[in-house]
Amino acid sequence: MSLTRRDAVKVAAAALLLPAIAKFGHAEEKAKGFTLPKLPYAYDALEPAIDQETMTIHHTKHQQAYITNLNDALAKQDAAWLALTPTEVLIKLKTLPEAAQATVRNNGGGHWNHTFFWESMAPAGKGGEPKGDLLKAINAAYKSLDTFKKEFAAGAGKRFGSGWVWLVPSKEKVLAITSTPNQDNQLMDGQPAPLLGLDVWEHAYYLKYRNKRADYVTAWWSVVNWDAVAERFATAQKA
Ligand code: MN
Repeated sequence: MSLTRRDAVKVAAAALLLPAIAKFGHAEEKAKGFTLPKLPYAYDALEPAIDQETMTIHHTKHQQAYITNLNDALAKQDAAWLALTPTEVLIKLKTLPEAAQATVRNNGGGHWNHTFFWESMAPAGKGGEPKGDLLKAINAAYKSLDTFKKEFAAGAGKRFGSGWVWLVPSKEKVLAITSTPNQDNQLMDGQPAPLLGLDVWEHAYYLKYRNKRADYVTAWWSVVNWDAVAERFATAQKA
């Protein structure tokens, strides 16, 4: 997935930074680790569904904090950990010393999930519509796109506290809706990557929607990047 391509960019960017920070010493250590990915659109591009202030804080403060904490946690482990992609970190999570797993789970998950979330959205009208094999699979599992959206929204409503709602590939029905607490996702449990994810932490919607999570979910459909979902679905079917 494109997280891997971003990692390549990240490594290249880190290399470019080396001369600039070398004078402060410890250049190698400072150049290692994960960095905040660039948003694939402007901070105000998802208005009015998601407001500019929420996007700015969500990306530059929340995701950045997960990345900083992930780097701090992995800096205490074998150097190979900081050379992995975010996906690889989650897949290998259970091979870390047990005392380090919760921090890396929360912050590595936070990093991965947010990059995935940004890539799951596009400005209204730019993300396409479900069609072809993806639409067929949605109709087979949920009878209609409308029913699918209702069940996904119900999953968002039922998630108590902070977490995520996901559309995932499923052996039985091809597609399934599921939910995880905190920053957990399927990769940590050895499952295939999700196809679509919705952040239902209060920080994702509270500035604009206050306590009305259901209104946030309803508005969010207008900025779903269905073309990205279709691409992930095609990849999952080949796996
Ligand atoms: Mn979030």
